[in-house]
Amino acid sequence: MSGRVVILGGGLAGLAAALRLAEVGRSVEVLETRPRLGGRATSFEDPRSGRILDNCQHVVLGCCTNLLDFYERLGVLEEIEWHREFHWANPPHEPDRLAIAALPAPLHLGPSFLRQRRLSWREKQRLARAIWRILRMGRAARLAAQDRTFAALLRELGQTDRELEQFWSPVIVSACNLEPHEVGASFALQVIQEGFLAHRFAASMGLARGSLLSLYEPVGEFLAAKGGVIRTGVSVKGLQFDGRRVRGVVTDEGVIDAAAVISALPPDRLHKLCSEALRAADPRLGRLEEIGMSPILGVHLFFEEAFTDLPHLVLPGRATQWVFMKGRDESGRFHVHAVISAAESWMPLDEPTIARRVMEDLRWAFPRTRVPDPVEARSVKEKRATFAARPGVDRLRPSARAGVLGGVENLYLAGDWCDTGWPATMEGAVRSGYAAAAALAGDDSLGPVADLPTARLSAWLGLGR
Ligand SMILES: Cc1cc2nc3c(=O)[nH]c(=O)nc-3n(C[C@H](O)[C@H](O)[C@H](O)COP(=O)(O)OP(=O)(O)OC[C@H]3O[C@@H](n4cnc5c(N)ncnc54)[C@H](O)[C@@H]3O)c2cc1C
Repeated sequence: MSGRVVILGGGLAGLAAALRLAEVGRSVEVLETRPRLGGRATSFEDPRSGRILDNCQHVVLGCCTNLLDFYERLGVLEEIEWHREFHWANPPHEPDRLAIAALPAPLHLGPSFLRQRRLSWREKQRLARAIWRILRMGRAARLAAQDRTFAALLRELGQTDRELEQFWSPVIVSACNLEPHEVGASFALQVIQEGFLAHRFAASMGLARGSLLSLYEPVGEFLAAKGGVIRTGVSVKGLQFDGRRVRGVVTDEGVIDAAAVISALPPDRLHKLCSEALRAADPRLGRLEEIGMSPILGVHLFFEEAFTDLPHLVLPGRATQWVFMKGRDESGRFHVHAVISAAESWMPLDEPTIARRVMEDLRWAFPRTRVPDPVEARSVKEKRATFAARPGVDRLRPSARAGVLGGVENLYLAGDWCDTGWPATMEGAVRSGYAAAAALAGDDSLGPVADLPTARLSAWLGLGR
């Protein structure tokens, strides 16, 4: 198939698909409704201060091989700073430190796990036993766990409320954006197995040194050099469908002819664009509305004085799950970013209330320090942050290409909500973009890159299954 490929959406999925297709000489046109790229992983200019702020802190893990591949292709991999230790608040004591040791997976986190002071020996024993069982279950267990919650599985593995609160919840709610009693066990198992047990580097945490938006700066030039184009500020309004193929994309600036279309839009947006005829012709489009969403709240706080040297802190058992210390901004103010995932109950709150609650959590975490009041607070509510990774949702996640059940042959789907096997993450978005590019070009070499290899010991102990 030759001719112009029109890609709907300039988030990570759309950009990843565009990059791979442009690399093999396909003519691509990316349409993005907003004035900037990056979709849900982006930055904005705060109208109050003029600062460029990320919508929310975004974390990449070492196991996100496709996202890292995407950054490398763009030449921005060096903009990611790696952290190999994680600080867990344990007031009134100093925070616990969970660090990656020079041991092969799955032992690499073991020594520092045993030193966690907020957990008793009994709790550590029970946790270690559950982690051992999760390792022994192997990857095959994920499919069988599709229809139950992670909390149900943890109960079966003998975990108590306190272990859920102090260990499992902070890990899973940050990765899957739902609490253990809501999240599908298959998603949580994927996070634990791939992120913490499969490979030593997998758990390393990468944070962008600059703004998220700056990571996408090279995309436009990259595509232009290959004959592609990105058009921001252009809204897609519909798809022209002739009963067999999509012929064109209707935008607020006119109709664009298309040999093929990749939709890299969120499911609700795609649903709105599809006519009845298109939906009837393509089984992938029939259940888009059933995919639920889960919110995340990011809170930027600015202080006159720094009050900690820690780079970040996990707050187990508190509503604020993570805080990231982002250093001093251009005006010399100390910038702290707080993240609240699965933030449904926070959505109705106003900014002063949000700031006050986050400050309570910060003061809880730093009881020995005088944490001053912030001089500025800016909260960013993302009501539709990620698809809700509930049990059974995988059945609603379509694949990139039309399948055996039929479908429109020149319409490809991408987005973190497609059937990547991952929760809603930047990694999932890039994987889906690569998969759509491979399907469209009929070239598997454009598809997702390999995962980190499973460490020999982990595979031997059972993860290989
Ligand atoms: C607050 C928050 C925190 C997060 N934290 C993390 C994290 O720490 N780590 C992680 O890996 N992931 C995180 N995520 C998830 C991650 O951001 C997403 O999974 C990923 O960015 C989704 O990319 P996408 O390309 O699939 O979708 P999107 O980014 O939603 O891209 C879709 C694009 O389509 C555009 N669009 C919509 N309608 C139209 C239209 N009609 N015409 C043209 N364009 C249109 C949108 O503007 C958007 O740019 C977080 C998400 C949020 C919101």
